[in-house]
Amino acid sequence: MDRSEWYRKLPSVDRLLQRPVAVAWTEKLGAERVTAEFRGALELLREAIGSEHWSNGHPDGWADPVDEAVEQWVEQRLAELTRPSLRPVINASGVVIHTNLGRAPLAESAISAMAETARGYSNLEYDLDAGARGRRDVHAGRLLAAVLGYPAIVVNNNAAAIYLALRELAAGGEVVVSRGELIEIGDGFRIPDILESSGCRLREVGTTNRTRIQDYRAAVNEQTKALLRVHRSNFAIVGFTERAGAAELAELGHEAGLPTIDDLGSGCLYDVRKHGFEDAPVRETLDAGIDVVTFSGDKLLGGPQAGVIAGRADLIERIRRNPMFRALRVDKLTYAALGATLRDMVLGNEDAIPVLRMLRTPVEAIRVRAERLRDELVGAGVVAGVTEGQSVLGGGSTPGQGLPTWLVSVSCSDAAEAEARLRAGDPPVVVRVGEERLLADLRTVPEESDQPLARALAAAVAAGRN
Ligand SMILES: *Cc1c(COP(=O)(O)O)cnc(C)c1O
Repeated sequence: MDRSEWYRKLPSVDRLLQRPVAVAWTEKLGAERVTAEFRGALELLREAIGSEHWSNGHPDGWADPVDEAVEQWVEQRLAELTRPSLRPVINASGVVIHTNLGRAPLAESAISAMAETARGYSNLEYDLDAGARGRRDVHAGRLLAAVLGYPAIVVNNNAAAIYLALRELAAGGEVVVSRGELIEIGDGFRIPDILESSGCRLREVGTTNRTRIQDYRAAVNEQTKALLRVHRSNFAIVGFTERAGAAELAELGHEAGLPTIDDLGSGCLYDVRKHGFEDAPVRETLDAGIDVVTFSGDKLLGGPQAGVIAGRADLIERIRRNPMFRALRVDKLTYAALGATLRDMVLGNEDAIPVLRMLRTPVEAIRVRAERLRDELVGAGVVAGVTEGQSVLGGGSTPGQGLPTWLVSVSCSDAAEAEARLRAGDPPVVVRVGEERLLADLRTVPEESDQPLARALAAAVAAGRN
């Protein structure tokens, strides 16, 4: 068909609305919505016909018969519009805290607590003993104090925590930070920008690879309002390096009468050193004398999105009174989930918290599951094996360090294409690709997802053979 023929074949909206698919959607969504979608589709088609992008007698993306093509386009749009945008994903990447995949899956206790709190009214800001207005921060405050040994408050996320701590403790003055810690983490979060937006001036000291306590000391002047330390999070500086310790910085802060703040990033409550990682639990930083620490709720803590600010009682109280605290506060569902996660910690139920369970899973247990999955795949005619690999904690918790694991490796004609098919599947599956093979790490896959994962892998490979 040529251009004029395509124009001639353009259907009217009325004709399209009589097709069964349109009638069914109109019943569900009403005529206005459906008519608008058909109008939009026809407009796009008209533009495509007028464009230069044609191949084999078709404007790109459009087929003949025209009515059906338009109907299909609308059908897909409406299906997308009416299904949830947020969907469960099988994370076989081996990255335990995957920011793009929603970070920490929640403990069952946290999920039930959220559901129960969501369903009805609660004592969020009501003191049941006094029969009077209460404070929402008590719901996590007591538990955090029990776990950390210091008073703490909760805000929307760690970025908000750093912002608020700086704003209250250092606005209008200089904050001393090492050049080796001026980090950027995902989605444009940069320490210098947070500093500036909280009303502080950045005073950089040291060099990229080495900053000594003398560098901080030399920078302190009458404009200085705080000393800041930042976890390097998503990168490692190796070789000829030096970093001032928390205790040294705390001592300088006390000498100079300046508050010290440590952005711990992930902030472990659980001691990950048992698994070969370097990071010390949050409490040790505070015991070393640092005044205020901040960390995320949904990284190694294993809870919901939140930011915790903990430390010296008088400073935490000041931060709580800052007017911005009201703007950055968390809702009842976050308190419910965070409280339940912390209770699991206090009760020693570490394996009830998925992030900790994944971290603690013995490599042999992963190997047994990986071999079972491989056998199933081989039984289904797929070329598969198991191979040693490394999982990572992710979320900027332990850069450059890994955990031993076993990967299921699947050969296919085009690994990149198969990987894309897995992402587009239902449920979507995220795997790694290496040496032209799909690599699935079961450390981050709940055992009940092994079967759906096996089916998805087999289907993705089979589709490549056709
Ligand atoms: C992850 C991280 C943040 C940001 O935390 P959010 O909870 O995502 O706001 C800030 N600083 C460091 C060092 C981090 O690792």
